[in-house]
Amino acid sequence: MDKAGELLEKYWNYTSFLPHQKEIITSVLQNKDTLAIMATGGGKSLCYQLPALRLGGLTLVISPLISLMKDQVDDLNARGIPAAAYNSAQDYRDRCQIETDVKNGNLRLLFISPEKCMQANFLAFLKDAPVRLIAIDEAHCISEWGHNFRPEYRELAALKKHFPTIPLIALTATATPDVRKDVCQQLGFLSENEYVGSFNRANLHYRVVPKRADQLGILLDFLKKHRDASGIIYCFSKKETEELSGELRRHGFKSYPYHAGLSTQIRDEVQDAFIHDTVKIVCATVAFGMGIDKPDVRFVIHYDLPKSIESYYQETGRAGRDGKPSECLLFYSRGDLGKTRSMLENDGASERHTHLAIRKLQAMAEYCETTRCRRGYLLAYFGEAYPDTNCALCDNCVNPKKVGEYTTEAIRIISCIGQLPTHFGMGLVADVLTGGKSTKIKEYHLDEFSYYKSGTKYTKQHYVAWIKDLVRQGYLARTGDEYPVISLTAKCESVLAGKTPVMLPVPEVSAPRAKVPKAAAQTPRMRKAEVTKVPVTPAVKVPDADDPDLYERLKALCTKIAEREGVPSYYVFSTNSLREMARKRPSDEESFRAIAGVGAFKLRKYGPAFIAAIQGDE
Ligand code: ADP
Ligand code: ZN
Repeated sequence: MDKAGELLEKYWNYTSFLPHQKEIITSVLQNKDTLAIMATGGGKSLCYQLPALRLGGLTLVISPLISLMKDQVDDLNARGIPAAAYNSAQDYRDRCQIETDVKNGNLRLLFISPEKCMQANFLAFLKDAPVRLIAIDEAHCISEWGHNFRPEYRELAALKKHFPTIPLIALTATATPDVRKDVCQQLGFLSENEYVGSFNRANLHYRVVPKRADQLGILLDFLKKHRDASGIIYCFSKKETEELSGELRRHGFKSYPYHAGLSTQIRDEVQDAFIHDTVKIVCATVAFGMGIDKPDVRFVIHYDLPKSIESYYQETGRAGRDGKPSECLLFYSRGDLGKTRSMLENDGASERHTHLAIRKLQAMAEYCETTRCRRGYLLAYFGEAYPDTNCALCDNCVNPKKVGEYTTEAIRIISCIGQLPTHFGMGLVADVLTGGKSTKIKEYHLDEFSYYKSGTKYTKQHYVAWIKDLVRQGYLARTGDEYPVISLTAKCESVLAGKTPVMLPVPEVSAPRAKVPKAAAQTPRMRKAEVTKVPVTPAVKVPDADDPDLYERLKALCTKIAEREGVPSYYVFSTNSLREMARKRPSDEESFRAIAGVGAFKLRKYGPAFIAAIQGDE
């Protein structure tokens, strides 16, 4: 491992490993198949890039997107590490050159798509190449339990047969226990070494706001507070990305739409513009993002409900990769939930898949409706315990819902459920209490029942929220996968006996619906009072560079060099490195080398220009 430490310093100029990196790299270097699960920004790439250098020969990296490969190759080349991507879009001569480089041992890393990798002629070529390690990026795509299943990933199951002695490393940022097991099984891991890093993205602030008629007003308000920040707004449909993007432009925000219906050329242009900061906001469908390694995305907004916690986590994970405070805002309505649910029910998938998709959607809705810490919910979903009761960085923790004693209402709910002829879902129980008129009420003659319409002081939503909270507190149980129903637990007895007071969330007075008609709500003349205020982020202070002017000059130099080389500016230096330079003012090679992110290669290549800029500033 000492050698690995040296490489870490030489090529990346990092002084220590991030959590789990060392264990994962050791496991790979011991020739063991390894599953690495780390949150976005956790430093997965290094887990195969460093072994690639240590092992020599060729490390094959299987990655789902060509754009993703290009970024990684550019970054590695900028560090002086020979790497290339190989795909059918390249011209014949380039491919021949790569083949020659591979044969001569001149390439350390070769990026390739799963389809290409499993083609017979390519496999034959690989068998003569000095392959030492195979890395499978975005490995959750192999599992049909995941949210991003890609059939071509299944073919990778045969890799172990073709290369029985070569270690595999599978990497992903999202994997529930089911998916983890499936990935290892599919790939035929002989000795499975699993490393699960924390899923906690401590710099992300999670918020859910009700989706109402003034949604656009809330969004514009948010964007005004984040004027020069880069962000992604995820929308449900292609049409919506275009409409919203147009609307934002009309309000003075530079924005592009992005969806799978646009030509490859336009999509590449939008992605490039976003990465190079010529456009700050992209209104996109979920098609956008896989290749986005941009470190300074300051916000990710879900304009509509995501279909699963996995997608939500992955999409919000694109914010704040540089570790700086970033915002995740989600607009939620039960209407969206119903719309997506019926879409899933009617999309012609097998019954098993529909069932699975609805379960995932339900968990997403629960996340939106929970009154507890959202971070705690997300982590629990991925099987991780979160020890703090208050994360101080989600809306529920910043503005905790008030609780009060509602023993009478708890007894009303419990008694009602106890006397119903059979088990029902929570919506129907709430309907009975508030005197609803659904067909089920008629069918079961529940309107003749003594608890019918006994709780008219509160609304159906209040009762549903309370029933959920009683489930959480263990007084009620929710069972059944497809149609969950509510039943009593033994814990209810002491409540019914009047021995235990029950604390429940104080019902919110529902805000009156905004009176502005939809069209008017979308004009810039909307009055301030009609806009629901989004609570302001708690102050998480980022220490600024001591010398903001020098920082700006260094940033400009960085952008200039990046433009000349045709790479994003953070490949030259990250904003963290630039800030450190502005603070420490390194004036010679030695002190410049001490800046985090400056490796030997970057010192040689960029050091003189930056040192000159700093000295010129004295
Ligand atoms: P992931 O693929 O897991 O999302 P990356 O591999 O892109 O994460 O790494 C995230 C960030 O962390 C990158 O900016 C990377 O340079 C940085 N990083 C990786 N390893 C280290 C380390 N050992 N020390 C400091 N920074 C690191
Ligand atoms: Zn919280």
